[in-house]
Amino acid sequence: VADCLARIEATEPRVKALITVMAEEAMAQAKAMDAAGPDPDKPLWGVPMVLKDLLTLKGVKTTCGSKILEDFVPFYDATAVTRLKDAGAVFVGKANMDEFAMGSSTENSAFFMTANPWDVDRVPGGSSGGSGATVAAGQCFAALGTDTGGSIRTPSSFCGIVGLKPTYGRISRFGLIAYGSSLDQIGPMVRSVEDAALLLQVMAGHDPKDSTSVDVPVPDYLAALGREDLDGVTIGLPEEYWGEGLDEEVKEACANAVAEMEKLGAKTVPVKLALTEYAIATYYIIAMAEASSNLSRFDGVRFGYRNKKADELIDMYTASRTEGFGDEVQRRIIMGTYVLSSGYYDAYYNKAAKVRRLLRQDFEKAFAQCDLIAGPVCPTTAFVKGAKADPLQMYLLDIFTISANLAGIPAMSLPVGLGKDSSMPVGLQFMGAPFSEPTMLGVAECLE
Ligand code: GLN
Repeated sequence: VADCLARIEATEPRVKALITVMAEEAMAQAKAMDAAGPDPDKPLWGVPMVLKDLLTLKGVKTTCGSKILEDFVPFYDATAVTRLKDAGAVFVGKANMDEFAMGSSTENSAFFMTANPWDVDRVPGGSSGGSGATVAAGQCFAALGTDTGGSIRTPSSFCGIVGLKPTYGRISRFGLIAYGSSLDQIGPMVRSVEDAALLLQVMAGHDPKDSTSVDVPVPDYLAALGREDLDGVTIGLPEEYWGEGLDEEVKEACANAVAEMEKLGAKTVPVKLALTEYAIATYYIIAMAEASSNLSRFDGVRFGYRNKKADELIDMYTASRTEGFGDEVQRRIIMGTYVLSSGYYDAYYNKAAKVRRLLRQDFEKAFAQCDLIAGPVCPTTAFVKGAKADPLQMYLLDIFTISANLAGIPAMSLPVGLGKDSSMPVGLQFMGAPFSEPTMLGVAECLE
């Protein structure tokens, strides 16, 4: 813990990954644990960790990267946080993020931009960019991110670390401040596949406080590791993920990794994900609709920022939300409200819900032919800050990640080397059928 805090002090001026550093609390906790001696029943005993700043940690500011929650201090722990605490983890900080997890670069944080530790002029990815940067900069041994449409996988890819978005419902969302409730999942952002398996082991499992957390037995994820080869594994390669719009250097690094898997004994087959071209439109309708509803609770009354000058109630709501939410969040509330409004609901929201179901069926068909699907996480490597100023351009980066959230399936990013043009990390994405995390982790570790 002391070493991580020293590393934070040395690197934060350039990286700016953290909104809050809990130096005193973490040191006090570490000293007390040290005095009591190691506890073999706690698999994360004394491991310094960081949380994305939309996961509640009792008594510590939880901002969601937003001015509207600038001073919000929750009085309870998220279930995932409780489980990590019980396993012995020590939290050293809370990570910067795009406001309410809306974005792919962490440039939408209300507070400051985070830099990519590999090249500080570039973005770390988003929305869990602080979590990606803090792990890549060696400030902690593991971080938690959340993934609604790629927010664990994109920053993991851009920062050269391992990131796993589990099956929807595998980890309780209680204490995760919601963006798109039917899409959100918590997951580990770490230095190795083994660490991902360990964290998933600790956090997975049913929670009565989240009705969407599934009551499916938790397998032994660590037992799935240690494969010597990939004999008997079939990898599906969707042509929609390997063609147009993909940067050459990303394609090359990912193709080399696939060739490596073939050498290890895996068989590759082409699969079809024909609805990929509709995924962005479908995702942004559903995510914005859910966000507009979830964010209605921030009204200046119950939580966070309030404009104190307004005399009338409605004026107070309007002023508080206008001043408290950033541009991207306001854009999404407006669009989400529009697609849910009477007269437009059938044309947009309902249509998107139908496409979502078809997309899920596409994956079911694909997984009848293969164990895992492999492709890039993102069409590009980490880009220079400010390079994607147009919101639509930013949305298009999510093309390969959002389908997994719409289908509720697990997906991960595995670092597979540096792009030959940018010299920045490239992540290979694996996607699997629901609850196929053991297979995915086993294959990824064999390739690692
Ligand atoms: N970039 C996507 C969005 O802005 C995904 C973000 C996320 O997964 N939280 O909605």
